[in-house]
Amino acid sequence: MNINKSLRAFLAAAMLAIAAVAAPGVANAQDVVVERDVTVREGPSRLTDALDFPPVGTRLELLDEGRRTSGYLHVRLPDGREGWVYHTYVSGDAPPPPPPPPPGADSQRMTVHYIDVDQGASALLEFSCGAVLIDAGGRGTAAGNHLIAYLDAFFQRRPDLNRRLGAVFVTHAHFDHNSYLRRVAERYGVGAFVYNGKVDNRNQWMVDRGNARATAFPVVAVTEAEIAAAGTQGVRNSNIDPVDCQGVDPDIRVLNGGRTSSPGWGSREFRNPNNHSLVIRVSFDRSSFLFTGDLETDGIEALVARYRGTTRLNVDVYEVGHHGAENGTTEGLLDATTPQIAVISVGDPNTQGVPMSAHDHGHPRKATLEQLRDAITRQRSAPVDIMVAEQGSNAVFEAFRVSDAIYATSRDGDIRVIASRDGRLEVQTSR
Ligand SMILES: [Zn+2]
Repeated sequence: MNINKSLRAFLAAAMLAIAAVAAPGVANAQDVVVERDVTVREGPSRLTDALDFPPVGTRLELLDEGRRTSGYLHVRLPDGREGWVYHTYVSGDAPPPPPPPPPGADSQRMTVHYIDVDQGASALLEFSCGAVLIDAGGRGTAAGNHLIAYLDAFFQRRPDLNRRLGAVFVTHAHFDHNSYLRRVAERYGVGAFVYNGKVDNRNQWMVDRGNARATAFPVVAVTEAEIAAAGTQGVRNSNIDPVDCQGVDPDIRVLNGGRTSSPGWGSREFRNPNNHSLVIRVSFDRSSFLFTGDLETDGIEALVARYRGTTRLNVDVYEVGHHGAENGTTEGLLDATTPQIAVISVGDPNTQGVPMSAHDHGHPRKATLEQLRDAITRQRSAPVDIMVAEQGSNAVFEAFRVSDAIYATSRDGDIRVIASRDGRLEVQTSR
């Protein structure tokens, strides 16, 4: 064969291949399709400028082999310009998910149980080989009884766990996060107690129990010194992350701890126990969860600054900080977390004139729900009303219509988020 001829044939084939990739409107494996109203941005962040608003059905060429940057995909518009779209607004960027795992193959899934403890917080992490509790507080005897009944039923369903919590975390030493700590510790085995180094009488009781010979378990105080020493890795060890399941090893790490000196905050902000809350990140292969306790604005800003430029705060499911208070969530935090689902652990708004109630605190706040509505990228199966406070304590509550994937224990009761290792999430509620 003449060399020139074979070169010409090669070039012709190459040109055809290039044309197939570059031709606008031609469906191929490198395309995604706009599914919902979307903004194409100049960079992989909501903070960058809008470039275009392509209508639903528009095909966008996928660049960078479909890699995601902070959840964004790099794409080429039909007119040739390049930009970034958030992945949940387009379809076709990943192969279809595999069929659901067969029953019993729980090593493929984990569940976070956000237990309804009225005004407070308690979340149970369930893995195929262990369980961990984050916070154990709430308001009133009935809520405490509900928590214990829930955990009893859980351990009855999971006899393999021998009524043992691999670790118990208390984000900070406040009643609504540790009021049932003693009941929990006296009823179930405890692998370790993890706290922020600050004690009230309930945390102190737990520290003493861990240090007593007859009931010993490791007591782990995570403070700013450990957090700073870990750079942007967060603190992780076998007490903080006692779960090592076959198939997939969940990752539990602490991203914020108690401070012993002020990072330049006002004295009121520094004295506020909320600003010393542990921040805990849980990831399970491609699924991830964040717990920020009751961290308030100053603490949140320091957290976001520390992990800026990393994906540490980027998660799928966000337990809304400080029960949905206006100072418990910031736009900077939502930009860093890009959650698909938000869960608010908050009390019954109908309980009025009672100290420590949701009504007493004015939780959750309407402004927070508005922020969440703008940030959350998934939908609930049907819209619901969540009661929100317009202002602070003893405020008037009003119904707030929610169609995004925002859940609240006050509305939904116990909330379970089942996460698959491939990133699929399913939400179940008891109401
Ligand atoms: Zn709280």
